[in-house]
Amino acid sequence: MTNFREVTRATKTVWSGEREYLAHGATQVPVVHSVSFGYEDVDEWYEVAIGNKDGHIYGRNTNPTVQAFEDKVKALEGAESATSFSTGMAAISNSLSTFLKPGDRVVSIKDTYGGTNKIFTEFLPRLDVEVVLCETADHEQLEAEVAKGCNILYLESPTNPTVKITDIERMVKAAKKVNALVFVDNTFATPMNQNPIDLGADLVIHSATKFLGGHADALGGVVCGKPDLVDTIYHYREINGATMDPMSAYLLLRGMKTLDLRNERQCESAMKIATYLQNHDAIEYVFYPGLENHHNHDIAKKQMRNFGGMLSFSLKGGLDAVREFLPKLEYANRAANLGSVETVVGPARTTSHVECTPEERKAMGIPEGLVRYSVGIEDVNDLIDDLEQALSNIKSS
Ligand SMILES: *Cc1c(COP(=O)(O)O)cnc(C)c1O
Repeated sequence: MTNFREVTRATKTVWSGEREYLAHGATQVPVVHSVSFGYEDVDEWYEVAIGNKDGHIYGRNTNPTVQAFEDKVKALEGAESATSFSTGMAAISNSLSTFLKPGDRVVSIKDTYGGTNKIFTEFLPRLDVEVVLCETADHEQLEAEVAKGCNILYLESPTNPTVKITDIERMVKAAKKVNALVFVDNTFATPMNQNPIDLGADLVIHSATKFLGGHADALGGVVCGKPDLVDTIYHYREINGATMDPMSAYLLLRGMKTLDLRNERQCESAMKIATYLQNHDAIEYVFYPGLENHHNHDIAKKQMRNFGGMLSFSLKGGLDAVREFLPKLEYANRAANLGSVETVVGPARTTSHVECTPEERKAMGIPEGLVRYSVGIEDVNDLIDDLEQALSNIKSS
């Protein structure tokens, strides 16, 4: 088989992870809707069951379509191993639960995805795990907290929805000194723009529901890293049961074939839209790591190949202006997802941070009038025209 390490990521999106799962001359990976896998030979069955021989036993553990999905993500992240989940949140919660026990300590940032933030503030403390949430871009504070000792340093960069950037390589150095594992949620960057494993992270997590799938028609999550860590997480997942469905795996696998194409268009359009918005009278502030006035543009430039398809902006007129503006957009779904071929918009207070109270959002630096904008693959000029007509004549500005 071709050594996929030698081809570019774009070629990997199309070819990686598929060949060994093809059957009967099919050119596409089959959706194997079988709950279990049978064996005539009792000894062979046993060998597969105890892991001495490749094969499948039961759908909660492994499935060929799901494995093809894992293999493709693994190739794109340059990881040795990957395991998948029913959702991104299942990937995050299972990965944390695999390694944490009462008395442990987690250091993270204030700007993690809303669901992740809830795990940190609501569920982990209940299990007597201490969680310290630092200012996302305050590297000194993060380093100081890590130096006090921790089991896991959990990062997300860029963050949702204000696309803040944390220096992954620098944080890995701090974590290594205290033997902490480093997890990075790479959902916003995608493997096209950033590979945390190359920056020293132990585990990379994705909500596959977003850019990996790209079509907003399947939920999924995935974790990549070294085999010993990933196998341990896999074992936790096979017992706890948050398994990816084969049909979702197929849809995500198909979506990933165009990941590089989509990403190229989305990054280019996001930069143009961010620049356009920055110069618009109705706009208060634009958050996009590609903008030179972004607080950590230099770090983004250092650790990312491109700046991604996500941006956010606040309207001068606050929430009232958002109420007027959003319904006027013609080429955008007003919805909670992101990373799709269609442009998706929504107020952060209704989408990524709906689980938080207004006070919590304020503490996280998320204005009530903040709009998250996930750039689709439409023609960028059409998107800018659409923004222009929706932003004109806002009474509340
Ligand atoms: C959506 C999202 C998640 C959660 O993924 P689900 O598939 O919705 O469970 C986690 N992290 C980030 C950054 C996300 O955008």
